[in-house]
Order: sequence, then C-alpha cells, then structure tokens
Amino acid sequence: MGKSYDAELALFINGSWRVGEGRDSFAVIDPASGDAIAQVPLASAADLDEALAGADRAFSVWQATPAEARGTVLRKAAALLRDRSEAIATLLTLEQGKPLAEARSEVAASAQLFDWCAEEATRLYGRTLVRPTGQRAMVNRQPVGPVAIFTPWNFPLYLLAKKLAAALGAGCSVVAKPPEETPGCTGALVRCLADAGLPQGVVQLVHGAPDMVSRHLIASPVIRKVSFTGSVPVGRHLMRLAADGLKRVTMELGGHAPVLVFDDCDLEKTLDLVVPQKFRNAGQVCVSPTRFYVQESIYQRFVDGFAARTHGVTTGHGLDAGSKMGPLSNARRPGSIEALVEDAAAKGARVMAGGKRGNAGYFFQPTLLADVPDNADIMNNEPFGPVAVAAPFSTLEDAVAKANRLPFGLAAFAFTEGLRTANLLGDAIEAGMVGINTFAVSAADAPFGGVKDSGFGSEGGIEGMDSYLVTKAIHMA
Ligand code: NAD
Repeated sequence: MGKSYDAELALFINGSWRVGEGRDSFAVIDPASGDAIAQVPLASAADLDEALAGADRAFSVWQATPAEARGTVLRKAAALLRDRSEAIATLLTLEQGKPLAEARSEVAASAQLFDWCAEEATRLYGRTLVRPTGQRAMVNRQPVGPVAIFTPWNFPLYLLAKKLAAALGAGCSVVAKPPEETPGCTGALVRCLADAGLPQGVVQLVHGAPDMVSRHLIASPVIRKVSFTGSVPVGRHLMRLAADGLKRVTMELGGHAPVLVFDDCDLEKTLDLVVPQKFRNAGQVCVSPTRFYVQESIYQRFVDGFAARTHGVTTGHGLDAGSKMGPLSNARRPGSIEALVEDAAAKGARVMAGGKRGNAGYFFQPTLLADVPDNADIMNNEPFGPVAVAAPFSTLEDAVAKANRLPFGLAAFAFTEGLRTANLLGDAIEAGMVGINTFAVSAADAPFGGVKDSGFGSEGGIEGMDSYLVTKAIHMA
C-alpha cells in the first residue's frame, strides 16, 4: 500500500478537458474498502452533442490523414503509456481492485495494441478487378465514420485500447464511454493519445449514466457504428437501439467458458496453470475458465488438487505486494456470486474451498464447487467472479455435449495430450476461441469474439480493424 489516488477526473470533449463545472457526478469507489475516493463528472446532453459535433468534424480530418501519420500518433501513445505505466497501473488497481502486477500487465498489453494497429493501419490495401472489356474496378476500404464505443470495468484499459487502437488505425473518430467505475485510468489512457498529437476531436471521452449516454449517442446520425463489450442483456438492448439507424455493431458479450480435462493430460501441470487463471482479476474475465468438466478417472484427484491450490491464493488490497487476488470491482458482484454459491450448495454441490464474502470492501473468497448439477443456476449463468465449478464426464462425446449445452460461445479450453482429441475438439466446440493446453487466447494479432449469445464481430487481428472499415467498389470504363 502507500500509494494514494492521484487523478484529475474530467471529460474530454473536442480537444479540451472538462471538469465538474456544475455537472452531476458519481462517486469513484476503492473496491477493497468500499470507500469513496473521488467524484467523476457526468456528461450532460449538451456535452454529448458537443462531443458528437466534434467527432463529426474530426472524422474528415482523420480519415484524410495518411495511415503512416495515424500510426505515428498510435506508436507515440504506446510509448507514453509505457512511460507512465506505474502511475496508470496504480490508478487501475485503486479503482478496479486487481493486483498491481496484473494492472501493470494490462498497461503493457494496451500499449502493444496501439503498436500493432499502428503497423496494420499501413496495410489496409484494396484490390483491382480487370474486365475483358478494359473496364476496371477498384475495391477500396474506407473508415466507416464516427463510432460510439462502450467498454466495461473488468479490463478498463485493455478493452478501451482494443477498440480505440483499431478504430483510430482505420481512420475513424470516436466517442468513447468507458465505465464510470474507473475514470482515472481510462482518462490517463486518453491523455496519452492527446499528448501524442491526436488531432482535436478525434477521440471524445464521456462518462455518464449508461442508458442516457448510449441512447443519445446511438440515436445521433453522426454515429455510424457501435461497439460494445459487456453483458448479454445490455448488448441486446444496444443492438435494438442501433437497428433504428441501421448502424453496424460489434458485440463482445458474456461467456461461460468450459474447460475439458482429459485423463491423458499432465494433471499437476494442468492444475498449476488453471488455478491462477481462474482467480486472475478475481474471475471477472469474459473468457475466465469456469465450468471444469473432468474425466471420471481423474476427477477426484483434480478437485482435491484444485482445492489445495485454491486455499493458497492470498486475497488483499491490490497494492499489497502479497495479494494474489483483489476484491470484486463493484458492490453488485459479491451478492450475486453469493446467491449462485448458495443455490448450488442447496442443489447438492460440495463447497471444497471458499464460498463466503469478505468482511470489508467487495471481497469474495476464491471458491471451488464440486459435483455441481446442471440445474444449478451457476452452471447456466456466468458467475463473473472467483468461482470454479466442477463435474465429471465420461466420454469425448459427453464432454463436447456438456461444453456446448449453453447458449454462450465465447472461449472454451481443453487439456489433453491426444492429437486426435485436440483436433476433434477444435472442430466440435461451439466457441469463438478454443485453447488447447493454454489459456492464452487473446492477443493483438488474433481475432477475438464470440458465437451464439456471446455476440458477433471480432476484435483484434486484421478482423478487428476490418470491423471499422466499409468497402467501396469504383468501376471505371
Ligand atoms: P451490466 O449488464 O449492468 O453492465 C455491463 C456493462 O455495460 C457495464 O460496463 C455497464 O457500464 C455497461 N452498461 C450497462 N447498461 C448500459 C447501457 N444502457 N448502455 C451502455 N452501456 C451500459 O452488468 P454489470 O453488473 O456491470 O456486470 C455484470 C455482468 O456483465 C457480468 O455478469 C458479465 O456477464 C457482464 N460483463 C461482461 C464483460 C465482458 O468482458 N464481456 C465485462 C463486464 C461485464
């Protein structure tokens, strides 16, 4: 501990930082204590109109800026993020709760996204079609227009950087509404872009009541695309709003990742990998491994080994050097996780580790539930917290059926040394990302996105940048 909260909380509209000035505000809470540490000003309807007008004007400037010059700004922003890493990571931990080491990694990964998109911006090629008549057609790709982006509180820097880097690399201007829980660190990220020389109005940062802000922005004819990361119900709601204006959408929604553990895996190595992954960011990760289906012959050894390791996960304030897991990020989470655990226990699950909330702040113990039946709520609703659930499976077919039984399809994982099993799983599992003997399924160069209720559209990789582009065919006789 010992580092204090030091952030100037402001909106960034048309190139200028706007502080309180009579605006409504929300309290920013340190989730480790539940104490208010600052107030963030909220955008009014007039602020949003100004942001939209600024993004509209700036779009014509930014889309005409050569890709190399756009890349230069993104690369400078990446360098500034790295220079300011310690201060930004500290804000992230104080606002969101994750251990400082995880916050530092998030800053580094965000910088990498800017660097990658800076390079990719120079490769947005078109193609030429040549007709026997001599007519030619040029197929060009152009930025879709000003975009509205809505990002959540679990990876407030990385998920904002992911959308910003691709949109800016593609030549779009942006009105961004990051989560109101973490305004200091997201403001610091936008400052890096501004200090890197981003032209006035290309990025607007607005905090505010989510429903008011999203309705206002999405209804505006200025906005040509909506990109959202968050829960399935909010995703559906925003898609309905976007439908009126036929706006393109990218929806990165919830998951409920299955992990299939086969009896030919290296069990100790697998356990050493899965337990820290489960409790990373206190399980508040859309690809968090959650439903552990383990082959019958190794099931008991797996849950015993998982429970023993879980007892060793130290929880505490994210700034305390010994903390391996921080609190949950907001007051909504502990109660909803507690209800899921109690429901599972009432339906026959064994609580093998944890199961209780902490005394202060928004802590919840690292938890393992074994023998969880399919009708337990937690087997059907994403816990989005530090809870692993386990159940046995018999055959490969049984494992695949269990993995695919929910309407979600974001990430899925499997542990096996069998090449045939790995290949079959890669084909059969309904998910946007499948990790075999790894949890590393998110990277700047790889497409990331879901199927089924987990949404559609990719972020990351060339697919992520494509989602901010439209195609135009110009035919010339
Ligand atoms: P929520 O559904 O209230 O909100 C989810 C996110 O959407 C938040 O960031 C919130 O600020 C934003 N939001 C809510 N209403 C909005 C609106 N009308 N317009 C624009 N944005 C809006 O849920 P919550 O309590 O914040 O989080 C709980 C659930 O959200 C989790 O169980 C998880 O499924 C999901 N979630 C998913 C991700 C992800 O990375 N896919 C991240 C955070 C939360």
